[in-house]
Amino acid sequence: MQKINIAIDGYSSCGKSTLAKALAKELNYVFIDTGAMYRAVTLFAMRSDFFANNELDTQSLINSLDEVEVTFEFNQTSQKSHVLLNGEDVEDQIRSMEVSNKVSSIASVPEVRKKLVALQQAMGEDKGVVMDGRDIGTVVFPNAELKLFMTASPEVRVERRLKELQVKNPDITREEVKENIESRDYQDTHRATDPLRQADDALVFDNSDLTPDQQLQKAMQLVQERM
Ligand code: C5P
Repeated sequence: MQKINIAIDGYSSCGKSTLAKALAKELNYVFIDTGAMYRAVTLFAMRSDFFANNELDTQSLINSLDEVEVTFEFNQTSQKSHVLLNGEDVEDQIRSMEVSNKVSSIASVPEVRKKLVALQQAMGEDKGVVMDGRDIGTVVFPNAELKLFMTASPEVRVERRLKELQVKNPDITREEVKENIESRDYQDTHRATDPLRQADDALVFDNSDLTPDQQLQKAMQLVQERM
């Protein structure tokens, strides 16, 4: 059967990755979490001390971009794809609150976006990809056969993210999570280069009241209509 590319964009913590992963499994497609790629570059910048007093040294980052290699590898233990930074599995480290608080400033650097978008486009060349992020339907795959723009109510988003983060960090507070989501959404929608916006031909997919199973069923119907 002919393969298609599926682009899933939306605000932070809307459940994009959960749906993208489930769709990829159902269709036997490749799932690509582009947020993980921006997070890996953020970890690189942190390790290189490019954040002095929380201010990003953009020029040093740009000068070092050639040294940054971001790839994915399927992990047998977790049964999911992990992101690698220069060959090192950093899947756990990139989910920290510190990375979450810095990632949107890294994602606003045009040179970083150019590098990662080129990698993402290469991954989708042969189709059969479900990719989630902020600019997939608008920039990475403007011709994707199916584009979803996911939304969920702010309360639902904070609650979901809090539960996810509490597994590893029981001390995390609702306020911290809420602030992080709001600040990333603001930065992601207001940056000059490829800000988050709904593509003209994207379908709005509100999942506030849908279980993961219901979301998958609904999305699969849309996929079948496109195939
Ligand atoms: O998807 P996730 O929340 O892990 O993404 C982390 C951050 O990476 C976003 O808040 C955004 O700043 C950036 N991002 C982006 N473009 C993408 C994916 C993520 O700018 N395609």
